[in-house]
Amino acid sequence: MNLVQKTRELQRKSEAHPVSELDNGLARELAVALKDVLLAHAHRYYVEDDPVISDTEYDRLLAYLRELEERFPELAAPDSPTHRIGGAPLDRFEKVRHPEQLLSLSNAFSNDDVKAWYERCRRGLAERFGDVHPEVTAELKIDGLALALTYVDGQLQIGATRGNGTTGEDITVNVKTIASVPLRIPVPGTNGQDVEVPGRIEVRGEAYIKRSDFERLNASLAARNQKVFANPRNSAAGSLRQLDSSAVADRPLSFLAYSIGPSSGSLPPSQSMRIEWLRNVGFATSAHIKTFRKIESVIAYCEEWTERRDDLNYEIDGVVLKIDRIEFQEELGAISNAPRWAVAYKFPAKEATTTLRDIIVNVGRTGMIKPEAVLEPVEIGGVTVSQATLHNEDYIVSRDIRIGDTVVVKRAGDVIPQVVKAIVEARSGDLPKWSMPARCPVCSSELVRLPEEADYYCVSSDCPAQFIRLLEHFASRDAMDIEGLGSKLSVTLVETGLVEHISDLYRLTEDDLLSLEGFAGKRALNLLSGIDRSRSQPLSRLLFGLGIRHVGKTTAEALVQAFPSMEELASAQVDDLLEVDGIGTVIAESVVDWFSVDKNKALVADLRDLGVRMTAIESEVAASTGRFSGLSFVLTGSLASMTRSEAADQIAAGGGKVSASVSGKTDYVVAGTQPGSKLEKARKLGVTVIREDEFLQMLAD
Ligand code: NAD
Repeated sequence: MNLVQKTRELQRKSEAHPVSELDNGLARELAVALKDVLLAHAHRYYVEDDPVISDTEYDRLLAYLRELEERFPELAAPDSPTHRIGGAPLDRFEKVRHPEQLLSLSNAFSNDDVKAWYERCRRGLAERFGDVHPEVTAELKIDGLALALTYVDGQLQIGATRGNGTTGEDITVNVKTIASVPLRIPVPGTNGQDVEVPGRIEVRGEAYIKRSDFERLNASLAARNQKVFANPRNSAAGSLRQLDSSAVADRPLSFLAYSIGPSSGSLPPSQSMRIEWLRNVGFATSAHIKTFRKIESVIAYCEEWTERRDDLNYEIDGVVLKIDRIEFQEELGAISNAPRWAVAYKFPAKEATTTLRDIIVNVGRTGMIKPEAVLEPVEIGGVTVSQATLHNEDYIVSRDIRIGDTVVVKRAGDVIPQVVKAIVEARSGDLPKWSMPARCPVCSSELVRLPEEADYYCVSSDCPAQFIRLLEHFASRDAMDIEGLGSKLSVTLVETGLVEHISDLYRLTEDDLLSLEGFAGKRALNLLSGIDRSRSQPLSRLLFGLGIRHVGKTTAEALVQAFPSMEELASAQVDDLLEVDGIGTVIAESVVDWFSVDKNKALVADLRDLGVRMTAIESEVAASTGRFSGLSFVLTGSLASMTRSEAADQIAAGGGKVSASVSGKTDYVVAGTQPGSKLEKARKLGVTVIREDEFLQMLAD
């Protein structure tokens, strides 16, 4: 039995036998088996940076073992994973003995756990300090790798990993390749020039990799048929613990300092002041550290970050809470592997492992074929996931993902869950390699992969699947906004033959609709009046609704501003289109190609005859004089108070321009939750970033 199979068996046994019902014999058998299996997983995770089960599965088994050891203390082995920190340091590095242990953290999984921790701290302080309500500093728990950096006379001397807490690996050469690790403190030009740095000081913090860099790193590993990392934490740890420091330098790692270890001189008396001290002498520290007087406010902060965790470009897996005053920390001390004065509030998991039951391919509106994973349903952070994206053929093939595999699935915010990797070690038997089907699953025409594109397309214009998606898109809120015409009805209208071309929508009669199931009463009339109203939608909405490849909503608006009638646009040449701000060759060629196809010309003519507006309305072309006039906005992430397109409408109503991408000409980036790479780009270019509340304030002003 391999490790994953052994783990599955122990999972089954622990679920079937609650600790309270165990007899001595089974308890002994499970204690031994769990210890061995968990130690093997800890080795894969901490030493090899290549876990084969999810953290939730590991934590569940560890919690079971802990409960078992509490009930049967005689079964707690001295080397049980319940008392251990991390994993053994790798032999390929010199070892560093830490002057003071680097501990792990106890966890809190609920608000009650946080309150209980705080009360324990208060009780622990009562004897010496009386009835105190100590302040708590809350810091984001970055999911990376703990480092201890020793500076002697201001010079970085040793960079070490946590290892097993007592002994770590000397990775000084690699640490020096991280740009945000100062080689000397105070860093010239920082506020801390006059700060007296102790002769010997250990700075602790987290080395991590940004989300976007992690995706890029995995893509390039996959392209070279190398093993990809399961998550950013493993990739930061794996990158830093390579022998070749020039290879480490190629991996974009960052470092945030979060505490000070043993030091030879005097230092500020609280965690929050020490963070400020670290910042002053030139360390990067988190911008999201806050100190609170009340535990209720601490909990509110934890809840806020549970919601906002995907706003950042690096992974966080919780919030670390620390009693702020160092004197209090010293009084509280530590248990075997964690300090009493700190606790990690853990967010619900984002990853899980499960079985890949099947890979199906779907046809999108533009004919793009998207492979999708059909999964053994698995709970990830409170949501059951049974489908996930597999992106494209290269993604699957380069990662050697096969039907039947155990796979790592990740869910982030509202983004569609994705399969990150297959756990090849868990593969039992010979699973056939997957390959892209040769034909469209809907119309059976041959699929085509265009040069330099990762995706396959069904290029048959008669493919019903494509047409259904197009119809749905045409009627969608940002396009012609026909209420009641969603995906289900689009399928029915196409399958019953009532709609063969988009223009057929405008020929539908009440009788046609009444012949369909579920169309009794007013529904038919409501739909017909919705269709009728859509005839006078602004031209840019029609243009967007036609589904021309690469013509999104903002592009359609820009095109209509420059070509205020369908006729003018249809006769524009590539060079004319390139004159328009924001239109490049790809879009220009796509527009010209679309208007050159006879079928599309006929569609436009038909729509015109059926009374659909073919000229721009005044506000689409008018030079704006509103309060946002002359200002250019980019929207990223989702807003709580309105959709992005509503926000764009409001900006346009005020005379502003909304662009799809950030450039030096952008005035504001409005960042909602889960902002994309645009936020990062804005920061790089120094473009002002405003949050939703600030944006609402601008609208209100
Ligand atoms: P931890 O990651 O839960 O917490 C301790 C660490 O938090 C510190 O070492 C430090 O690196 C980090 N940290 C980040 N920000 C911090 C801050 N502001 N202040 C202080 N510390 C901060 O504990 P751990 O022992 O390192 O790891 C346990 C985790 O590893 C669990 O989530 C467990 O599921 C996972 N694990 C998984 C497997 C597996 O097979 N999947 C195996 C072993 C462990």
